[in-house]
Amino acid sequence: MKRIGVYTSGGDAPGMNACIRAIVRTAITRGLEVTGIEGGYAGMIAAKFLPMNMRSVSNIICRGGTMLKSSRCPEFKTQEGRARAAANLRAAGVDGLIGIGGNGTSEGAHNLWLQERLPIVICASTIDNDLYGTDYTLGFDTAMNTALEAIDRLRDTAAAHDRTSFIEVMGRNNGYLALYAGLAGGAEEIVIPEVPTDVDALCQRLLDAQKRGKTSSIVVVAEGPVTGGVVALAEKVSARTHLDVRVTVLGHVQRGGSPNARDRINGSRLGAAAVDALLAGETDKLVGLVNGQQHLTSLEDAYTKKKPIDQKIMDLAYILAR
Ligand code: ADP
Repeated sequence: MKRIGVYTSGGDAPGMNACIRAIVRTAITRGLEVTGIEGGYAGMIAAKFLPMNMRSVSNIICRGGTMLKSSRCPEFKTQEGRARAAANLRAAGVDGLIGIGGNGTSEGAHNLWLQERLPIVICASTIDNDLYGTDYTLGFDTAMNTALEAIDRLRDTAAAHDRTSFIEVMGRNNGYLALYAGLAGGAEEIVIPEVPTDVDALCQRLLDAQKRGKTSSIVVVAEGPVTGGVVALAEKVSARTHLDVRVTVLGHVQRGGSPNARDRINGSRLGAAAVDALLAGETDKLVGLVNGQQHLTSLEDAYTKKKPIDQKIMDLAYILAR
């Protein structure tokens, strides 16, 4: 292997830049050349390539977003799209790939490997933390702390006015952010897709909390169709309980911002581990961390298998919110 390509794809996450930096500097240290691919799979198809050296990644470790840009690229889901991407990469002398992304990025990488046999590994990165085969995904920690800061602020104003504050956090099909930010923020209720929501029971618990002397409550809700959306839920609860409710949707603020120390450290570790995995002949793998150690998982397992929620954490949140 002489030259590797590096790209970021799908939802951006804080720490992606730290990971790019680690990939570029580790690869060059190991004697490889590095080509940056701008805009993920779309950049492969459009041949948006840039040479990268040690200085290309200066001063990015502290920045959110991704210096290589990201995209969603429907064309890459077609055989022709992937064939064009591979032809462009080969013409640019790229004979190995490291991507940084989540579920969709992993599925795209697996399909590229099956079709084109270009060695490829993916660094686990998504603020949702929903990839199987890794305890941790890059960006989750910073996003969780961003959500937590918002919850703390909303608690102040909810308490001042004796309100019930509904807060929607990201997580399309999973409740990791909601669960852990909810536990850390002392939420009274956590609504996630993994646990069916009984709205009547939720209303009853909020009223019971009031009887126990609570004057305000926090309800953290994971976004997405399974939870039914935070606005509809808050309206139902308000109609049934007559509690004074307010709704806040955190949205994309959770993606941005300077990555925290953990995401910078783990981004650095994942990036270096990905280079070493490729050089050791690995391909079609997700690079993650299990019990604090780097860990490889087949890409297919990573995006098809479901990482379960820890019910004990959910139970703990409810006990501690009494
Ligand atoms: P994430 O990696 O954050 O989960 P997406 O789900 O948006 O992000 O996926 C990123 C990109 O991966 C998609 O825009 C598409 O280009 C590519 N991708 C997703 N699924 C497939 C697939 N089945 N085959 C090929 N490429 C795919």
